[in-house]
Amino acid sequence: MTTPPDISTVGIVGGSLGGLFHAVALTELGLDVNVWERSTGRPDDRGAGIVMQPSVAWFLSEFCGVDTNQVSVPVTHRQFFTKDGNVRIMPMRQQMISWGTIYKALRDKLPGERYHDGQPVTALAPAPGGATIHVGDAAHAVDLAVIADGSASGHRGLVAPGGASRYAGYVAYRGVIDEADLPQELATRFRDAFSFYDGDRTQFLCYFIPGDFGTTTPGRRRMNWVWYVRADASELERITTDRNGIGHSLSLPPGLIASQVHTDLLVRARSTLPQPLRELVEHTREPFLQAILDGRVTRMRNDRMLLTGDAAFVVRPHTAASAEKAAADAITLFHALQQAPSADAALQAWEQVRLAEGAAIYSQGVALGHRLGLSGMETTAATTG
Ligand SMILES: Cc1cc2nc3c(=O)[nH]c(=O)nc-3n(C[C@H](O)[C@H](O)[C@H](O)COP(=O)(O)OP(=O)(O)OC[C@H]3O[C@@H](n4cnc5c(N)ncnc54)[C@H](O)[C@@H]3O)c2cc1C
Repeated sequence: MTTPPDISTVGIVGGSLGGLFHAVALTELGLDVNVWERSTGRPDDRGAGIVMQPSVAWFLSEFCGVDTNQVSVPVTHRQFFTKDGNVRIMPMRQQMISWGTIYKALRDKLPGERYHDGQPVTALAPAPGGATIHVGDAAHAVDLAVIADGSASGHRGLVAPGGASRYAGYVAYRGVIDEADLPQELATRFRDAFSFYDGDRTQFLCYFIPGDFGTTTPGRRRMNWVWYVRADASELERITTDRNGIGHSLSLPPGLIASQVHTDLLVRARSTLPQPLRELVEHTREPFLQAILDGRVTRMRNDRMLLTGDAAFVVRPHTAASAEKAAADAITLFHALQQAPSADAALQAWEQVRLAEGAAIYSQGVALGHRLGLSGMETTAATTG
């Protein structure tokens, strides 16, 4: 592998999918890479579903040596429910994977000593020919800093001032159910399908994803559902306040939903959803939720500091492209550093390509949300980062 001579050390802020895609790709290039992640320990494998797109599949297979057919659940068609439970079928092959499966493949590939969890980056500063990453009392000089600290990025402003993400006016309630816990007749309704229900200013979708330890054996998989529901700012505050009265503002993890909010969800499911989908909500012990955000930037690079993943563009999940976008950021950087004559030329070329792609996916997501009646074309209230 050849890389520009003026980059040898890389520091990555944030060790979720975006940070890990970059860590693995840049380690493949022979660079000296370290990742600092704020949270501690491995997230458990109840991670929800992700539609596997080409860059994620390519990354897992080329860089992690994973046979993607072994770790994903194939669907052969989309089925669109009507309110009375009838379906319209559209053939369309896709592969469904889980967040946990991607995360595990990336962590397994990265040498453990390169991943520093429970170590938040407290400050980041440009330096001649690189950047300085502060973690607690330590200052790490690197030739390249990759900012992958997510939609509420605390460091985005160093590259793209004013690029905060905004609440789009609706949330995704989500649920994951062990296939073994579903009545067989119900599970059969969703076999081999990516299922949808488009209602009045709402959308529900579901598909099977791998189960424990990435298993894709029928009967041991998980059903993953997502239900988009409009919620104004006060409703958002109510539904993200957990059963102990603690506010979480933009998301609520499994196991914490307040009993009244859970009851309201079941009542809404009864009045809104076709029966098989309603039953999925009823079989979900621990629904969780995420606010849908919009975020875009006009720069992804400030000299030797790069913005990637959700720290750069927060795109709506209808595009099924966030993990995909982060993987593509990393693959593009890998090739740019391999091919360009200097680090500056590589980083400039990378920014040009990824800015255009990010902006296009962002606009596509906003338009899809609008078409579904979930929000207007533009969002207003700034909520994060
Ligand atoms: C309803 C829904 C459905 C989705 N479906 C899909 C889909 O089908 N396909 C798809 O591709 N994507 C999907 N996504 C999106 C996807 O899960 C992520 O958005 C994507 O993986 C990008 O992640 P990221 O690493 O950039 O950011 P994040 O996952 O937010 O990670 C940021 C990390 O940075 C860490 N961090 C923050 N601050 C610091 C600090 N100061 N120091 C150190 N660490 C720090 C955080 O702890 C976190 O681990 C979906 C999202 C939603 C809400």
